[in-house]
Amino acid sequence: MAGTRRIALHWKIVIALVLGVGLGLALNQWWTAETWRGLGVGDAGAFLAGKASEANAQADWRAQAALVAARAAAFAGLVFLNLLRFVAVPLVLFSLISAAAGMGDVRRLGRLGGRTVALFAVTLAAAIAIGLAGANLVRPGAYVPEAAREALAAGQTQAVSAAAGRAADHGFWSILSACVPTNPFDALARADMMQIVVMALLIGACLTLLPREKSGPVSSVCDGLYEVFLKIVGVVMRLAPLAVFCLMARTASQLGLDVVKALGVFCLVVVGCLLAQVVLVYLPIVAAVGRMGVGRFVRGIAEAQLVAFTTSSSAATLPVTMRCVEERLGVPKEVVSFVCAAGTTINMDGTALYQTVVALFVAQMYGVDLSLGQQVTIARMAALASVGAPGIPSGGTVLLVGVLQSVGLPVEGIGVILGVDRLMDMCRTVVNVTGDAVGSVVVARWGGAGGAGTPAPAA
Ligand code: ASP
Repeated sequence: MAGTRRIALHWKIVIALVLGVGLGLALNQWWTAETWRGLGVGDAGAFLAGKASEANAQADWRAQAALVAARAAAFAGLVFLNLLRFVAVPLVLFSLISAAAGMGDVRRLGRLGGRTVALFAVTLAAAIAIGLAGANLVRPGAYVPEAAREALAAGQTQAVSAAAGRAADHGFWSILSACVPTNPFDALARADMMQIVVMALLIGACLTLLPREKSGPVSSVCDGLYEVFLKIVGVVMRLAPLAVFCLMARTASQLGLDVVKALGVFCLVVVGCLLAQVVLVYLPIVAAVGRMGVGRFVRGIAEAQLVAFTTSSSAATLPVTMRCVEERLGVPKEVVSFVCAAGTTINMDGTALYQTVVALFVAQMYGVDLSLGQQVTIARMAALASVGAPGIPSGGTVLLVGVLQSVGLPVEGIGVILGVDRLMDMCRTVVNVTGDAVGSVVVARWGGAGGAGTPAPAA
């Protein structure tokens, strides 16, 4: 409308994020057990969980209003997250089937896969090198006095042994075997992205082997359904500012700020290395190889980065990433659906970088001198763990156990960083999602599934 200026969605999300963090931190600081007692609530945990407790019999109307507000905020966040998860599987399935069928040649699929994996390997190696360099230069583990270390680890033993119990085999061959689906419905129900990618490519490739009159209607239906689910992402994103505000207020109110202070150097090293991965690796690759303006790239994926930061889940962010990369950065559908869907599972540079820094941090904290060979082992394990980690909150944390054990470091060390893990997860998920967008832009420039370069059209 002439004369009216609309604020871009990513700015609305930024404002919501800042307000949410502000409110959450204020609650964290000033809404104490004493405040609850003033409202007649003796056991705030039970009250907020809706459990009956004698201690809360005197809860007044203000406490009830606070409870309603907390529940409404949790509900708004959950609706947004669930809708994103709901869209992710059909979006990937239908887009990949129709894209693979449209390619018309199985060899072109192989080229697309080869180029994608090659690029992912390069950025992963860079991420691990940056993590190793940062942790060796600054030595964050040396800044944690023994008393603080014990205090931080106390109370986390249960969480650490739970992580150790869940740490499955993440060797090269087991990761590869896990990509082969046995039951298509099971893969869809579990939202196993790698299996869905393999399945969709198989269906799409076989569609190209059928006569046109048989394959045509199937491809059209998949194409149409893809458009429908992409539209749903657009509708769901209108909820984003409210949902981000609610999710951030909740997360920030639960963050233990004292822990951040105690592990300040560690947090700075992780965030500094993640920033270096974006500024020194991703953006130059986008500009030099993807031949896309850095400003355009950053503006184009801002929404996905903000959702990644808020949700700590690259799987939940996948629909938003796909929409940003296709609609804002003009990358063709077949590249977006393949690179982003595969990337959500196997391309987690932020996670690999984080695991490398944590391993060196734990070694430094316990006074263990790691040889070059041991650091190489850590790098190899971090790479495998990042490929095997699921794109969910703390998906990479569980796999830290294997990385530490590979060089005989004490797994109790994980307990020390658990207090800041959520905050670090938010940051590394942004990098994971950015890496998928970088991959899409570059693979499209290299020619996507075809031969000659497919220039990304102007926004
Ligand atoms: N939360 C990360 C992601 O979804 C995985 C991790 O824990 O590192 O990408």
